[in-house]
Amino acid sequence: MKEGSKSFEDLKLTRQILNAVADMGFEYPSPVQQKVIPKVLAGHDLFGIAPTGTGKTAAFIIPLIMKLKFAEGVHPRALILAPTRELAIQIDHDISKMSAYYDLRHVCIYGGTGIKTQSDKIIEGVDIITATPGRFLDLYQREYLYPRLIKTMILDEADKMMDMGFKKQINRILEIIPPKKRQNLLFSATLPPEVEELSYDFLEFPVKVEIEPQGTTASTIDQCYYKTPNLKTKINLLEYLLQNSDRFKRVIIFTKTKETANNIYKYIQRKVEANSRVIHANKSQNSRLNAINAFKEGDVRILVSTDVSARGIDISEISHVINFDVPLIYEDYIHRIGRTGRANRKGESITFVTDPDSHHLQEIEKIIRQKIPEKPFPEGVKVEATEKWEKSLTDRELDKIKRKLNPDFKGAFHRKKRKIDKKRKLR
Ligand code: ADP
Repeated sequence: MKEGSKSFEDLKLTRQILNAVADMGFEYPSPVQQKVIPKVLAGHDLFGIAPTGTGKTAAFIIPLIMKLKFAEGVHPRALILAPTRELAIQIDHDISKMSAYYDLRHVCIYGGTGIKTQSDKIIEGVDIITATPGRFLDLYQREYLYPRLIKTMILDEADKMMDMGFKKQINRILEIIPPKKRQNLLFSATLPPEVEELSYDFLEFPVKVEIEPQGTTASTIDQCYYKTPNLKTKINLLEYLLQNSDRFKRVIIFTKTKETANNIYKYIQRKVEANSRVIHANKSQNSRLNAINAFKEGDVRILVSTDVSARGIDISEISHVINFDVPLIYEDYIHRIGRTGRANRKGESITFVTDPDSHHLQEIEKIIRQKIPEKPFPEGVKVEATEKWEKSLTDRELDKIKRKLNPDFKGAFHRKKRKIDKKRKLR
C-alpha cells in the first residue's frame, strides 16, 4: 500500500501483531487501517464505508486480536458475519495469519457443507467465530452455540448482505446476542438506505470512517469500456482480448447470470484455453474452492464468475477484470473491479456495453464519481449482425429504461400494440 503518514508502529500495536504484519509483507497501514484501528482500539462502535480491496479485513482483525489477547473459556467472544462462504473463509484465513503469535482459537462456519466438523470445533472451545448468517443461526438453534459472551460483533460487506436478503437473519442474530457492553463494527462498500437503517439498529454512537471510492479505483485501476452491439460480437471481442496472454495474465470475467457464465466458459474452453474455470451458485462448494485455489496458484489464467460467487475472493495479482455485461446492481461494479488493482497494484477493468447498458453505465459513473473512458472497437474483431431475438430483447430493455426515466413515455412496443388493437376494433 502507499506510504502513508503513519507506520504500523505509530498505531501502538503489540509486538506480536507487528511481527505478523511484517510476515505478511505489509509495510505501511492502508488509509482505512490508519483510520479504523485507533478508533476500534479506543472501544468505539464504528461505521466504515470503504470499497473492497482497501484493507478493511486487517483493519478490524488487528484490533480484535489485541482486544481478545488469549484463549479464554469455551464460548465465542467475537462474531464476524460475512455474506458468502468465500468471504468468511478469507476472513478466517486472515485471522490465522494475523494471530500467528497469539494462541486464539477461531472457527469458520458456513452453509453448503456438513455441520459436524464445524460443531465439533465449536465444542472444543472458540474465541472468534466467522460465519455466514444462516449457518450461525442453524448452529445456534441446534444449541451448539452459546452467544451470550459475544462482546464484539462485526458485520462485513453489509450492502451485499442486504442485497442477498439476509436482513431478517441479521435481526434475529441481534436479538439473541446481548447488546450490553458490546462493541459493534459495520463495514460496507456502499451506503444504500437499508444499510443506513441497519446502522441505526446495530451501532451506538458510532464513529464514521469513509474512504472515497475515487481514492482507490482511480489510482490503481484503469477502467475503460467497449461499445458492443450484440452477444456474438462480445464473444468475438472476448476471444480477441484473451488471445493476448502476455497482457491478460490473470483474468476474471464477470456475468450477471449463471447461464451466461456457463456459456462463455464452454466457449473459452473450446476456443481459447481448455484449462479455464467457472464458478457460480450451482457449482458445489468444493468445485468453487478448487477453482479459486487453482486460479490463486496461477495454474489457471481465466476464471468466469457471477457476482455472488466472486465475493470475498482475494487474489492479489489479477491483471484484468472483464465485465461481459454491466451489473444491474450498480454497487456490484465496484465489487467486480475491486478484484483487480488490490493493495496498490495496477489493474485493468474492461466493460462490454450494449445500447441499453449505456444507461446503466452512466448510473455507475455517478456512483463512482468518475467518467469511464470508451476505447475504440479493435479493428481485427468481427462485428456481427444483431439477430432478431436479440434486437427485440434490446428494444424492450431500452423501452423499459426510457419508461423509467420518463413515466409518460409510451414506447415502441406500446404503440405497436395499440395499432393492432385499433385494427381489431375496426373489423
Ligand atoms: P477488503 O477487506 O477491503 O476487501 P482486504 O483486507 O482483503 O481488503 O485487502 C486487500 C488486499 O490487500 C489483500 O491481499 C491484503 O492482503 C492486502 N493488504 C491489506 N492491507 C495491506 C497493507 N497494509 N499493505 C499491503 N497489503 C495489504
